[in-house]
Amino acid sequence: SKALVWLRNDLRLLDNDAIYGAASNHERLNFVVVRTPDTWRAHDWSAAKWSLYHRQLQCLANDLAERGHSLHVHTVASFKDSVDYIVAYATKQDVQAIYINREYPLHERQRDHRLCVNAEEVGIQVVQYDSNLLVAPERIQSGTGSFYRMFTPFFRAWKEELVTAGLPGPYQRSVIPDGSDNSAPTIDVRVPDDIPGQCRHTDDWLVGEAQIRQKVSVYVREKADHYHHLRDLPSEVGTSQLSPYWEIGAISPRIAAHFLQKQAPEFPSGLSEGMHTWLSELAWREFYQHLMFHVPRLSRHKPFQEETDNYPWRKDEKAFQAWCEGQTGYPIVDAGMRQLAKTGWMHNRVRMIVANFLTKDLHMDWRLGEQWFMRNLIDGSFPANNGGWQWSASTGTDAVPYFRVFNPTRQSEKVDPDGVYIRRWLPELKDVPIKHIHEPHQWLRQYDPDNSYPAPMVNHKEARERFIANFKQVKHGN
Ligand code: FAD
Repeated sequence: SKALVWLRNDLRLLDNDAIYGAASNHERLNFVVVRTPDTWRAHDWSAAKWSLYHRQLQCLANDLAERGHSLHVHTVASFKDSVDYIVAYATKQDVQAIYINREYPLHERQRDHRLCVNAEEVGIQVVQYDSNLLVAPERIQSGTGSFYRMFTPFFRAWKEELVTAGLPGPYQRSVIPDGSDNSAPTIDVRVPDDIPGQCRHTDDWLVGEAQIRQKVSVYVREKADHYHHLRDLPSEVGTSQLSPYWEIGAISPRIAAHFLQKQAPEFPSGLSEGMHTWLSELAWREFYQHLMFHVPRLSRHKPFQEETDNYPWRKDEKAFQAWCEGQTGYPIVDAGMRQLAKTGWMHNRVRMIVANFLTKDLHMDWRLGEQWFMRNLIDGSFPANNGGWQWSASTGTDAVPYFRVFNPTRQSEKVDPDGVYIRRWLPELKDVPIKHIHEPHQWLRQYDPDNSYPAPMVNHKEARERFIANFKQVKHGN
């Protein structure tokens, strides 16, 4: 019998449950990718993400060709069209079943629901897996039978589920039956001009499943032990920098878990503090995907705490531009925003600082920042980005309490004490002595009066007080 594997954000052969399921039940397989540029534009795909996705797609096509399968790549406009196309193609190819890995935001779920209905109508079965998560959303329930709103109990339940369900072996690529068509399509990796984002080339990011797997393995063996010390230092490469690969599914989280298990056979117990903290980041990723699944309004640009929609967010195009361009006069904020523009990536601690600054110092709607991030990030992930923004703006579940407002200067002193990160991204501050790097304005006035670096655009103390007062009003009405 024959099956079709529809690959979306799961561009890998190893540990891909949809492929494994199809190969276990059918002799002949068809592999299909349907590009949906209109929907990707509507979802604010950045140029960097676009580039990485297509480069990895070419690697996947080559890997499949080595096994005798020609990846069928087709382009339509939207998600809706992709379903129509897949069902028509599956019918023409006379397949018995379509295999997919689930995705959890609303549009993706609507697309897959439509697929199930339309395929069933023509007698084709749809088989779904949760291969992009370690734990599927339905497998975790709070004591009250609902979903967890707080991360800590979620993490505990998530780890328990890993123990209960065990960690199945990563399914081998060799499960794919050999085919006879060794031709690989040539993928156009160029980014269309209208796709947003300053970073348009991603050659610094390796692609190819085997290489990415190697990167995970090296990170877990050599760095993860020190993660808890290094993760808050943006000047160091202390985190894994794997986020772009989870997003397009070039690697499965289970592979990472297997590498951790090699270090600690009792996994998830027995991990060193660094590795355990790193595992918690993988759980944060799943926490936000589960939330998308359980709370559809998150996919409709609504805050988790609905009353926070009454916050009087300020509209100021010029101030927003200054934030986007890294011209706020707060060096740590500006360094982060320039790193994002240049590379399509930003260190997590700095993401928190710039998001806090936009919402709590500039009093601007978190959705503006969320969209700017999506349009620039190479790892733009709707659940993680939405979660990160709502956490920072205090509108989300388990968010930072609204009265805790980061002081960007104190944060800067803490996470970049010698200003190494700041100087890397703000060359105009390269001569400022360490003592003045976090608040360089007085020094610049005296020793470098022609320097164009702007004065701070807001007074943090005043902005903080206004934010807290406004938010209190919104939350408690006084
Ligand atoms: P590591 O520290 O090595 O962590 C390992 C993996 O865990 C990451 O690759 C990522 O998949 C996951 N992870 C780590 N932290 C988080 C987190 N807080 N939430 C969810 N998953 C996490 N992450 C994205 O992948 N895409 C986004 O679009 C995104 N937007 C963000 C926006 C804001 C405002 C904030 C505060 C955070 C955002 N994050 C996002 C989370 C986090 O910043 C990145 O995952 C992390 O910086 C990626 O670097 P890394 O791969 O070196 O992570």
